[in-house]
Amino acid sequence: MPERLAIHGGKPVTTEPIPSGVHGPSVIDEREIKAVNDVLRSGNLFRFVENSNVAAFEKSAAELLGVKYTLMVNSGTSALICALTGLGIGPGDEVILPAYTFIATAAAIVAVGAVPVIAEIDNSLGMDPADAARKISPHTKAILPVHMQGVPCSLDKLISLARKHNLKVVEDCCQCIGGQYKGAYTGTFGDAGAWSLNYYKVISCGEGGLVFTNDYDVYERAAFASDPAMPMWMSEKEWQNPPFSRQCYRPSEVMGAIARVQLAKLENILSNTRRLKKAFLAELDAPRGYTPQFVDDPNGECGISAAIIIEDPNLVPTYAEALKAEGVSAGTVYNEGFPDRHIYRYWNSILFKNSPHRSNYPWKDPQYRGNVEYSPDMCPQTLSILSRTLRFGFNVNMHDTHARLLASAVNKVDAALG
Ligand SMILES: *Cc1c(COP(=O)(O)O)cnc(C)c1O
Repeated sequence: MPERLAIHGGKPVTTEPIPSGVHGPSVIDEREIKAVNDVLRSGNLFRFVENSNVAAFEKSAAELLGVKYTLMVNSGTSALICALTGLGIGPGDEVILPAYTFIATAAAIVAVGAVPVIAEIDNSLGMDPADAARKISPHTKAILPVHMQGVPCSLDKLISLARKHNLKVVEDCCQCIGGQYKGAYTGTFGDAGAWSLNYYKVISCGEGGLVFTNDYDVYERAAFASDPAMPMWMSEKEWQNPPFSRQCYRPSEVMGAIARVQLAKLENILSNTRRLKKAFLAELDAPRGYTPQFVDDPNGECGISAAIIIEDPNLVPTYAEALKAEGVSAGTVYNEGFPDRHIYRYWNSILFKNSPHRSNYPWKDPQYRGNVEYSPDMCPQTLSILSRTLRFGFNVNMHDTHARLLASAVNKVDAALG
């Protein structure tokens, strides 16, 4: 007999709240405060100063990632825009992205004048390589896989698909800072990678981003894209590409100073989250009514989240309510009530092809010969998976006991309902 569930009057697994919270900002201490104070006292807030914090952050990130070139910018969206510009993606081009990612990924594609093409996700909650293959057209120039919630997507297959069709790859690692895939950092498999350092990410300086690549030309063009005056600041250097002017995505030294300290804390944050997720997984019984999210490389992922995919769609609300009654709140990813901007269905500005300009660029750009169509139900597989997905987050404020309580609640509910 399964234990009586709390929704049926049984004793809940826990009555103490399970700590939640953001990652990077939770570990802010005197080191970040001192770093910011030092910048303010120096009066040097601009990035092109001697002993620049931004430059030091870029250098440490390059060493960590094992890449040749890194460029700090003011957001993850800017990082994606600079990466795409660096790769020469623009008007007339289609870029394939997954149906589950922050709307900023699609916005970055539109910002460079290219057309986003939305592909299904698979059980990894990342881009489905089979559907990405179906979405390739004569206009496709790049694919933009996203590693959601610290879990790398099916990278091997996506990279070989891209190579086969001669497509560029930009990896959106905004939610996967420090995440690895089969021994190398995410973002280093494609032609360029992007981090976000906004408030919610693994490490944070409030707002910020990083572009990284091993290709000098991509780096240099990304740098031009990040600052209209870049070729002038760096005038002593011999640029290898003709300079162009775009927008200004420059970070300040205050951002660089915080990011630098946070980067030094990355290993510690991830060793905690990975330990918590392992404790959760070790406590889980064999699933009855759900499938765990597919994780290709359990040792490399960030460990900041776990997801279970309920098999019977009718049971999803009951699972969610039952877990809540056990003292554990699991986030439902897709339900009609809550417009989550991470799901393509709610990207109205994209689905309606809303343009900032009367020319209806990029969709009506004369260079664009394709005719991509969008509709709210165009990715049924994605909606099916996300409507059945329940998520748990792990963060540095939690102890192993909390992770085990989460698992016990899942076990108890699954034994009764599964
Ligand atoms: C946060 C995020 C972005 C954008 O980052 P910002 O720093 O907010 O511009 C892009 N893609 C994904 C997957 C994200 O989570």
